[in-house]
Amino acid sequence: MKIQEADAKSLLLAQGLPVPAFEVARTVADARAAAERCFAAGAPKVVVKAQVLVGGRGKAGGVRLAGDPAEAEAVASAILGMDIKGITVRKVLVAPAADIVREFYLGAVLDRAARRILLMGSAEGGVEIEQVAAERPEAIVRIHAHPHLGLLDWQARRMAFALGLGPHLRAAVTIARGLVRTMTAYDADLVEINPLAIVRSTAADGSEVLTLECLDAKITLDDSALGRHPGLEDLRDLDEEDPADVAARAEGINFIKLDGSIGCMVNGAGLAMTTMDLVKRAGGEPANFLDIGGGARADRVAAAMRLILADPKVEAILVNIFGGITRGDEVARGLIEARAQQERDVPMVVRIVGTNADEAGRLLTEARFETASSLDEAAAKAVAAARSGGSR
Ligand code: GDP
Ligand code: MN
Repeated sequence: MKIQEADAKSLLLAQGLPVPAFEVARTVADARAAAERCFAAGAPKVVVKAQVLVGGRGKAGGVRLAGDPAEAEAVASAILGMDIKGITVRKVLVAPAADIVREFYLGAVLDRAARRILLMGSAEGGVEIEQVAAERPEAIVRIHAHPHLGLLDWQARRMAFALGLGPHLRAAVTIARGLVRTMTAYDADLVEINPLAIVRSTAADGSEVLTLECLDAKITLDDSALGRHPGLEDLRDLDEEDPADVAARAEGINFIKLDGSIGCMVNGAGLAMTTMDLVKRAGGEPANFLDIGGGARADRVAAAMRLILADPKVEAILVNIFGGITRGDEVARGLIEARAQQERDVPMVVRIVGTNADEAGRLLTEARFETASSLDEAAAKAVAAARSGGSR
């Protein structure tokens, strides 16, 4: 699960990292009011940033500076409602603009192969790190954190010196260690600060001060670990989620959309994978992975059918149920109910074995469903039905 910059910054703040103060606004008026508070606090400029879950907002015109409240209002009005890589901007972050001296990159990812957290840093910050990695891989410093103790002090210092952050050693060490701590504290897959910046400001006595600050933050959380962090689920941005994913989660259905034309409805993840393999072996391409879960009742079957049919590419549906705690007759009733409601009629092949399979077979035959007794037969029939032109 990706979370917005503002939420990622809140998590970094909670871990003690230096992040400039910010507010989030959903309307132009709120953005202007937030900007006025920044100016009143003495900021010469404010920065207004689109809050969307894609990178490269700066290049797309979604990050802009303003020198007075009127300009902040104009900038916010330009950004709110703007389209960035297909996503409509619904909120902006407003903060005092940093006077940037230099930009760095610092990020942590889960390195599954090494079974450790990998900290990556680069003195070429600001720009897209993927580009640096592709063109000048030597410009990225990589250090694996200790699997139990996190990033050790000397590792953080090594990273700081490698990036040329010796003059900011204490802050750099705090940030590097805090970044890795953030990974474990929230079970994140990725925590990225780009840019981590040396920022110039003026002290009360008029002297110039240079500090190291996290000006952007990107965090991806492990969906499977969300149960361990109840508060984090609230950070999910439903505005930016695929409606199919939202619907599937609400129904407790494990659903992943794919590119093929054979919709699959199966109970159990292993059986779902096997079913997809068999569809491929029969010469077809699965349109989705779908596990209706154990003990699914008629309404969940109907919901699964709606999810499958919402994909216009689906030309045939293969239902493969192995009844254990899931009762075959319940699934059959769900299918009959779903077909009565659905707007689009596509060929469907059903194979139900196990608990109450006889009852299921009787119901399905009565309702004139195409059935199959073996899985190979079911897959072959579904692929043939899709080939013969989808909708009847
Ligand atoms: P991204 O393009 O989506 O990664 O968004 P960023 O938050 O990284 O902003 C893009 C760029 O805008 C940064 O690399 C900076 O150069 C610039 N920027 C962001 N915040 C500030 C700020 O407070 N002051 C100044 N001067 N520039 C900023
Ligand atoms: Mn950035």
